[in-house]
Amino acid sequence: MAERISETLQKKLSGRLGFYEDLGIRLFYRDRGAVVVAHGERQTETPAIAHFSTIDLQKEVTLPKPAGKPAAQKTAPVAIPPVIPKSASLPVVSGPSLFEAVDKIADDTLLKVREDLGECTRCKLHGTRHKIVFGDGNPKAELVFVGEGPGADEDAQGLPFVGRAGKLLTQMIEAMGLQRKDVYICNVVKCRPPENRQPEEDEVTTCSPFLLRQIDTIAPKVIVCLGAVAAKTLLQTNRGISQFRGEWLEFRGRKLLATYHPAYLLRNPPAKSEVWKDLQKVMAVLGLEVKKGKSA
Ligand code: URA
Repeated sequence: MAERISETLQKKLSGRLGFYEDLGIRLFYRDRGAVVVAHGERQTETPAIAHFSTIDLQKEVTLPKPAGKPAAQKTAPVAIPPVIPKSASLPVVSGPSLFEAVDKIADDTLLKVREDLGECTRCKLHGTRHKIVFGDGNPKAELVFVGEGPGADEDAQGLPFVGRAGKLLTQMIEAMGLQRKDVYICNVVKCRPPENRQPEEDEVTTCSPFLLRQIDTIAPKVIVCLGAVAAKTLLQTNRGISQFRGEWLEFRGRKLLATYHPAYLLRNPPAKSEVWKDLQKVMAVLGLEVKKGKSA
């Protein structure tokens, strides 16, 4: 007979599960052999998904073949009509986002934002950082990826997503038929939180105006939030990312979609199929061709 667990243990477990949910981690108990789709059907992974799932991330890997020729300047190199899905008017947000009320700065540029950030000492993260990681990529990108904050490799190089998670993000971008230089990549906080902890509220509040200016200046068609911290910051919500992951939402009049963080995918490769589906939605909006055999 199954043993009953004590109330204290139940509370501990449900607290821990809530914590994982907040991190966007929900599916770690999933079967790795197949993708479970709606109504409990099981679906064998398609080639692109299978590729993502079988990447040995301990090693340097062969990247999935780009789906189309990368654009030099803009991120919509393939002339197929973009799909314009309706964005949800944010059921995830409890009130108007603080950011919605912030006016756009006229004639702002990434250079001005970087100059204003300066050798920032506004929050305690400055004390332990080596390099500020401002952001990198095409200043006119149609697609902006927003991560959480720099890790050790990024802190050493001053560039976003250059470590293991970054390599996976690069593969994801290339699987979309793009290159890193076609998109813009940045983070919620520009300095590495010590021990790779999550950025704290005061750090996010201090740093996010610069992120907001970056997004306003670039004026992308689509913003992809990588992980719960980016999504919660931009959407000003406390809801777990798995409740709105892969849905089209709106941020200051732009399309926003939240998906899992590449670091989460390193720990949970089966979730790559979900992320690939999300990226295909982004490709559809940007008019990027999904190569045959790469569709979900
Ligand atoms: N994780 C992030 O969120 N950002 C980076 O730049 C690197 C890892």
